[in-house]
Amino acid sequence: MITNSDSIPNIKQFSVLNDAPSSIVIIKPILDENKRVIDLKPAYINKAAEHLLAITKSNFYNEPISKLPLDPSIFNNEICYKTAYEGLNNKVKLYAPKISRHFDISSWSPKKGYAAFTIRDTSDIYELQEASTKQYEKIKVLLQNSTDFIFDLDLKDNNIYIDLYSDKKGLVQKKVYISPEWSKSKIIHQDDISVVEKITENLKGELDSKTINVRLRKNAEDDFQWYKIVFHKYQDPDSKNYNIIGYGLNVHDEIVRLNNLKEQAETDRMTGIYNNITAKQKIINTISNTQNIANAFFLIDLDDFKTINDTYGHPVGDKVIRLVAESLESTFRCSDIIFRLGGDEFGALAIGVKKIKYAKSLCEIINKNIDQNNNLGFPINVSIGVSINKSSNPTYEEYYNIADKALYEIKDHGKKGYEIKYF
Ligand code: GH3
Ligand code: MG
Repeated sequence: MITNSDSIPNIKQFSVLNDAPSSIVIIKPILDENKRVIDLKPAYINKAAEHLLAITKSNFYNEPISKLPLDPSIFNNEICYKTAYEGLNNKVKLYAPKISRHFDISSWSPKKGYAAFTIRDTSDIYELQEASTKQYEKIKVLLQNSTDFIFDLDLKDNNIYIDLYSDKKGLVQKKVYISPEWSKSKIIHQDDISVVEKITENLKGELDSKTINVRLRKNAEDDFQWYKIVFHKYQDPDSKNYNIIGYGLNVHDEIVRLNNLKEQAETDRMTGIYNNITAKQKIINTISNTQNIANAFFLIDLDDFKTINDTYGHPVGDKVIRLVAESLESTFRCSDIIFRLGGDEFGALAIGVKKIKYAKSLCEIINKNIDQNNNLGFPINVSIGVSINKSSNPTYEEYYNIADKALYEIKDHGKKGYEIKYF
């Protein structure tokens, strides 16, 4: 005896599912007397499923089940039987190449003898996952092969989450609490902490994007490297919260090269002290920042340097020039400005020196240091002209002209000495 042989099942009993938001297909397995499935009859399809599978009701009821645009393995005899008669709840993911869609399909029995399939189109989620895997791989390749990094800055908990790639753990986020952890962990150079703190504070307010250069290192035992950090603020379209992301580019080589170039441009090649142009600018800046302070400006010129060159040769003359520069460096403080004007003439600004007594002792120390450094076997003498301002708001030209006058007087009165003038 064949049960339900060719009869189309009574679909009215499922009509409640017509407008259900999920796509539902119901199949009735037809059994022979040995309870073996001999056919799968289409029992029901709701509107959502018609739309999803792009088939019409009449096609569904008139075509064999194997013609459905889904992998026939899901609607096979065994699964349909087990679902319809043994209450199997099955969940599978599958791809339908005919319609290029990904589905999550769960099977259940709405009534003994019927197997229902709820079909969920997961193509969007699948594509999203695929895209995010691709993004992950891209970021991985980027981080794996560079010293650059990307990060999130959470303004609520003051944490920075740095994306790092490690061979062992893959992509990981290292959490760094902004302050005072930064000073403790020593990943940011002490001198740059306040810069970063100020930026993060400003980002909480109006500021949108910002680029800064700071020195960072991964571990306390590493050397610092220069990084260009770009902060970018954006608003989450759903939560409306502001988020900050950013990246750090390793610009160490570039910055070191620029600093070297700057240093080269600022210094006198032979002696390593400031050249005339740089020193003049630095002195102008200093006196404009310290208008009411008296300073002593020194001009130092070698005596009879032409004779030294003529007698011992130019290279020995060069040694003398370097020796005088070194002697000046050991006479003045680091904060003072020492420079070579050119040839055998040097200058120095001793900041805050206003007493003639102190200016005199500096002239004597210059001579003493030159004598101490001199291992050339002949005497090296200098004449020194000094100008000190009494009035406020002095100009560079005033310092220079008065010191030059004093120097001229000393040269005129037999050299090897100093003259100090106030103005
Ligand atoms: P005075 O005592 O009046 O200063 O006379 P002086 O012989 O020192 O002559 P002056 O200061 O006018 O000349 C400086 C000389 O320094 C002239 C120039 O040949 C020499 N000179 C300039 N630059 C260099 C240098 O880089 N190396 C050497 N060896 N000599 C230099
Ligand atoms: Mg000279």
